[in-house]
Amino acid sequence: MTVRVRFAPSPTGMFHVGGARTALQNWIFAKQHGGAFVLRIEDTDVSRNRPEWTEGILSALDWLGIRRGTYEGPYFQSSFAAEHRAAVEKLAAAGQAYFCDCTREAVQARTGDPHRGYDGHCRGRGLAQALGRALRFRAPDKGQTRVVDLIRGEPTFDNAKIEDFVIARGDGSALFLLANVVDDAAMGITHVLRSEEHLPNTPKQQLLWDALGHTPPIWGHLPVVVNEKRQKLSKRRDKVALESYRDEGYLPETMRNYLMLLGWAPSGDREIVPWSVIESEFRLEDVNPSPAFFDEKKLRAFNGEYIRALPVEEFMAACRPWLTGTDTIPAPPWRPEAFDPDSFAAVAPLAQSRVAVLSEIVASVDFLFLDEPVADEASWAKAMKEGAADLLDATIGAYQALPTWDAESLKTTMEQVGAAHGLKLGKAQAPVRVATTGRTVGLPLFESLAVLGRDRTLARLRAARARLG
Ligand code: GLU
Repeated sequence: MTVRVRFAPSPTGMFHVGGARTALQNWIFAKQHGGAFVLRIEDTDVSRNRPEWTEGILSALDWLGIRRGTYEGPYFQSSFAAEHRAAVEKLAAAGQAYFCDCTREAVQARTGDPHRGYDGHCRGRGLAQALGRALRFRAPDKGQTRVVDLIRGEPTFDNAKIEDFVIARGDGSALFLLANVVDDAAMGITHVLRSEEHLPNTPKQQLLWDALGHTPPIWGHLPVVVNEKRQKLSKRRDKVALESYRDEGYLPETMRNYLMLLGWAPSGDREIVPWSVIESEFRLEDVNPSPAFFDEKKLRAFNGEYIRALPVEEFMAACRPWLTGTDTIPAPPWRPEAFDPDSFAAVAPLAQSRVAVLSEIVASVDFLFLDEPVADEASWAKAMKEGAADLLDATIGAYQALPTWDAESLKTTMEQVGAAHGLKLGKAQAPVRVATTGRTVGLPLFESLAVLGRDRTLARLRAARARLG
């Protein structure tokens, strides 16, 4: 059997990290089996059918390393309308589906139970197709539907508990459950690997595969992704958009690696592993079916490690979008012409060992490119304690007189100034840091001042001294 898998996102305006995991696992599964990966955009909800949303899906996949042109598609569900209609007609003509005009209220009034589902009222009524009537699949009353799931064994469902579910509208247009099956069958899909959220749909869909005369696929329901409170990740509550991680400065390598660890781990006592290892070691059968915790803190730590592993030139190149701004990343706060590549290159190694996400580069280096970094009130108050004016005076005097302007001399001098004021280096340098960088924390101070240069350092120290009055 030639393996054919598909990733079938519905456009939603953002790319959910859970979807990214599903895409990657399908991608690897196809690759491992010498099979095909098919992309199908499930765009039949007209309100969600926007070209820019589809483009967002393609570029998110590109970013993850699933590059356009290297897979089949994208196909669009909307272009299979004729096949959907044919399936609707076939099922209706064969009596495997029937039209129904019951309202939800009427069903509830009969059953007295809002959770019970449809009671089969229209099964024998022989209603003709008409607008406002739904087409329901005649689910079997007896027996069981057993599905083969690579992650969950063979989940078995009692047919008696499957209601006669709606598969099409009165105008003959198919709904998700049917359209999804018709498309998978038309595309020769052999394995449907998707999120656990769809597991309740699976027995219904397998019945449709059978009713349409096709061999059902093998299924694989990947664990649902949850937050630290064990709640399913939600667009409203949690940061779920892959794009927001990208724009914050997560590397695609980090995301790919981390997403693969949702429910799975490579061999040995390690989690950060090259993609080639993941591609060869990953086994869908080894995925843990329990909900997978999306741990943002861990992801951040991973990203820091990935950043530190880059050659410094690559780190500098990776920072570029935050140093210039893009369509989706805000421009930095300095005048573009104020950016100096040499100064940036001089501090890049210091920043590389400290940032966890690339967007942090802006706050790390802005003191070099802003005309005058201005400390906010809180930082100012925190650093400019009693004695700060004297300390700044002494620092200005000593720094003016320095024969050489290098990190070592700047530090030794600061230590001496501090000692003369009864302060250790950490305390003594606080006013100097805020005066010269506008921040209470940042890159190692004396290396920073060495790059900033004598004139600018002294000008900022004098301005701070003047502000103190
Ligand atoms: N469009 C559906 C979704 O995004 C596809 C489900 C499936 O993979 O079968 O959830």
